[in-house]
Amino acid sequence: MNPFIELGIRHDIVNAISELGFENPTPIQEQSIPVLLTGSNDFVGLAQTGTGKTAAFGLPLLELLDFEENYPQALILCPTRELCLQITNDLNNYSKNMPNVHVVAVYGGASISDQLRQIKRGVQIVVATPGRMLDIINRKAIDFSKVKFVVLDEADEMLNMGFQEDIDSILSTTPDEKKTWLFSATMPAEVRRIAKKYMTDPHELTMGTKNTGNANIEHEYYIIRARDKYAAFKRIVDFNPEIFGIVFCRTKIETQEIAESLIKDGYNADSLHGDLSQQQRDKVMKRYRDRSLQLLIATDVAARGIDVNDVTHVINYSLPDELENYTHRSGRTARAGKTGVSISIINGKELGKIRQIERVIGKKFIKAEIPTGFDVVEKQLFALVHKVHNVEVNEQQIEQYTPRIMEEFKELSKEDIIKRFASLEFNRFLEYYKNAPDLNAAVEERRPFEERGERGERGERAPRSGGKSEFTRLFINLGSVDEFNRGDLLGYICNNTKISGRTVGKIDVKGVYSFFEVANDDVEKVMTGFKGIDFKGREVRIEVSGEGTSSTRTGGERREGGYNRSGGGERREGGYNRSGGGERSGSGERREGGFNRERSNAGGSAGGGFRDFSGKRREDRPERRRRF
Ligand code: AMP
Repeated sequence: MNPFIELGIRHDIVNAISELGFENPTPIQEQSIPVLLTGSNDFVGLAQTGTGKTAAFGLPLLELLDFEENYPQALILCPTRELCLQITNDLNNYSKNMPNVHVVAVYGGASISDQLRQIKRGVQIVVATPGRMLDIINRKAIDFSKVKFVVLDEADEMLNMGFQEDIDSILSTTPDEKKTWLFSATMPAEVRRIAKKYMTDPHELTMGTKNTGNANIEHEYYIIRARDKYAAFKRIVDFNPEIFGIVFCRTKIETQEIAESLIKDGYNADSLHGDLSQQQRDKVMKRYRDRSLQLLIATDVAARGIDVNDVTHVINYSLPDELENYTHRSGRTARAGKTGVSISIINGKELGKIRQIERVIGKKFIKAEIPTGFDVVEKQLFALVHKVHNVEVNEQQIEQYTPRIMEEFKELSKEDIIKRFASLEFNRFLEYYKNAPDLNAAVEERRPFEERGERGERGERAPRSGGKSEFTRLFINLGSVDEFNRGDLLGYICNNTKISGRTVGKIDVKGVYSFFEVANDDVEKVMTGFKGIDFKGREVRIEVSGEGTSSTRTGGERREGGYNRSGGGERREGGYNRSGGGERSGSGERREGGFNRERSNAGGSAGGGFRDFSGKRREDRPERRRRF
């Protein structure tokens, strides 16, 4: 017998979900459906997104409501428009063989009159985001007095987004006897509190241990020097040719900068952040869902409710400010029983944060090494070989050309031909990655005292092998008394000299002066740039410092940004269109990894947080969370 029938779900629904590929219940469905079907309990389910929780509450609701009546009987509250539409769509799919089921989606950013019209026509299930729901309640356009079930989905997210008061007001319009089912990925004190407030003796179900992330997610971290972050990130992406990932940044500016740099470098990427209109957001999401985008660069807030299956990697380009967000971020991968990897790219100082996250998720991270250029080349080569092996041949179409192709190759042995096909791309990889530097920062973690050996002092960065420094340390007669911090100073330097922030090294802000490092090649530019410049009536003075560069800069490290590929031919998957001129040839096209084009020092963007001295203040704060 179909296992869903055994759980108590009717044939009409089972037939519909079979078409969706639901053969066996997921663990949360298996455990919650029998409990919820009784209709007599409040319920708390601690479950990640992607575990099948929509059906876990959706199927019992469809069983329990009376669809011959046309008044609201169930209210599902969720944090985002995307999730609201997703749940509505899922419920419509599950109930497609049932007559007279009316589900309405109520969310902001869309016409309220359409939603009001649908409500007026008669609905049994309302799926809503809190803000718009309250608006409709305040217009007295809906009657919740006969609601039997309220579902609070992703309760922790709703609270994070500051919806507590709205939820209170909405729930006060529903009858006391209703049953409340709450689902949450994490169980912070606030969620615990609302569970207590709205429920009596709820049945609790925990998938995995509390706060523990999905067991199918592998957590990795890479330690790099801050200035190598982008190069390291690209290297990781290149090492995963089939990546379909979400990259998390802390700020809107950062998402935009990374996305722009990636696009310039020939990757299929775009950004998702709070400044986009709903229409722009929908467009980006559609491209991502369609796989026209391989990398979605997002802020925490913007990525809420993203519900895309098959995400292979979550990349924490910056660690979240609030550790709890790590669980939400990583939960975007390994959905529906798949596996996934959550990668954090950190500098040595952030190791402590990784250890804290480990404690929160109850799982150890794996320390991974940024692959070498050779590793990437090998990986890409075999991905290509694999692709050639598996390509579907259109016999009919190719037939007409086969004789000419055979003629061309008639002198070559099979081995030669294969080698040539492989070399077509391989040469390009080799060229791109020859001399690629080691991007791993040698940071030794500070161990507990008793574990330290004879040498076990502070976990400082090991000096790299000898070699001439490529950086020059400069003195500037401005410092913290002039209200500069490092970010400000970086902005000031870049603005006056037009050098890229990426080529500026360590900055030491002192009281009335500061030191900063620039690439040797840029020293002249800096000197010229500051000639005749004054700061609040004081002449700005730049001098080469006698102290030499900091020890961390020794060793002739090269930056990945410098590996410009000659020829400039873009490499696209499948290798059509070699003109090298066009940026992208329409949607649907996926490029392979990152050898496409070299970074052309993307506009001197210097990463987060500096003041733009051309007058405007750069909006580069982490997106604010509404707290209550
Ligand atoms: P959810 O956690 O409800 O967002 O579900 C995550 C994904 O898993 C969705 O794409 C569902 O369609 C899918 N899914 C849910 N339940 C099952 C099941 N029993 N078998 C196969 N896929 C499922």
